[in-house]
Amino acid sequence: MRIYKLSLVAIIILGIIFIGKSDPMKNLYKNSASIITGLNIDAKDQNENKQDKKSNEKKEKYLICIDPGHQSKGDWKTEQVGPGSPYQKARVSSGTVGISTKKPEYILNLEASKVLKHILVSKGFDVVMTRESNDVNISNLERATFANKKNANMVIRIHADGSDDTSITGASILIPSQKGQYTAPIFEASYECANLVKSKMDVAGFKVNGIYERDDLTGFNWSKVPVVLVEMGFMSNYNEDQMMSNPEYQTKMMQSIADGVEEYFQIK
Ligand SMILES: [Zn+2]
Repeated sequence: MRIYKLSLVAIIILGIIFIGKSDPMKNLYKNSASIITGLNIDAKDQNENKQDKKSNEKKEKYLICIDPGHQSKGDWKTEQVGPGSPYQKARVSSGTVGISTKKPEYILNLEASKVLKHILVSKGFDVVMTRESNDVNISNLERATFANKKNANMVIRIHADGSDDTSITGASILIPSQKGQYTAPIFEASYECANLVKSKMDVAGFKVNGIYERDDLTGFNWSKVPVVLVEMGFMSNYNEDQMMSNPEYQTKMMQSIADGVEEYFQIK
C-alpha cells in the first residue's frame, strides 16, 4: 500500500514535470512557428508591396509636351520675354530654310516631332503637342503656358539651326539658364534630362556640339516645367540638311532623344 502511494506520488510528480516541460516546449514551438509564419507573412507583404510599387511605376504616366518650333507664317507682333519683363520679342518666327532641300524649318520640325511623339507613346508616355499642323499662330509664350497648364513633366522643343557659315554642322541642346531670372527653378531637371539626351545622341553617333544655357528665350522664361530644346542640326549645311530629311536618320535621332527622356524618368 505504501509502495503504491509512493508510486502514485512519483507518477504525479513525473506527470507535473512532463507537463511543465512539454508546455513550454509546445509554446516555444508554437512561438517559433508563429515567428516563422510571421516572417513569411512579412516577406509576402513586402513582395506584394514591391510588386504594387512596380506596377504603380509602370502605370504612372508621365506627360511630355512636344513643341515643334515655328509655324508657316511668323508673327512679328511682340510679347514679353518673361513674366513682368520690360523686354519684348517677336511672338514667333518662321525659322530657317534648308539650303539643299529648300524645306522650311517649321515643316522639318513638325515631321521630326511626329516621329518623336510616336516613339514616346510606344514607350508608354502621354504626349501632347503644341501644334500638329503648320498653319497655326501660337506664340512662344503661348507654347510655354500651354505646357504649364497641361502640367507636363517635361517639354521637348524641336528645332533646326541655320548659319551663314555653311560648313558648320552638329546638333545643339539648349536649356534654361541656371542663373536666369525666370529660368533658375527649372534649370536642374532640364539639365539632367539634356545630359541624358546628349549621351544617347552621342552613343547613336550624332555630333552634339554641346548643352547651352539660355536666359533670353521667351519659351524658356515663361515655362514652369523643365524644358529641353534640341537643334537637330544645320539646315545651312548641304549634307546635314539632306540627312535631317532622311526618314531613317530622323527616326534614329528621335529614338535617341526618346531614350534619353525615358532614362531621365526611370532614374528620377
Ligand atoms: Zn528654330
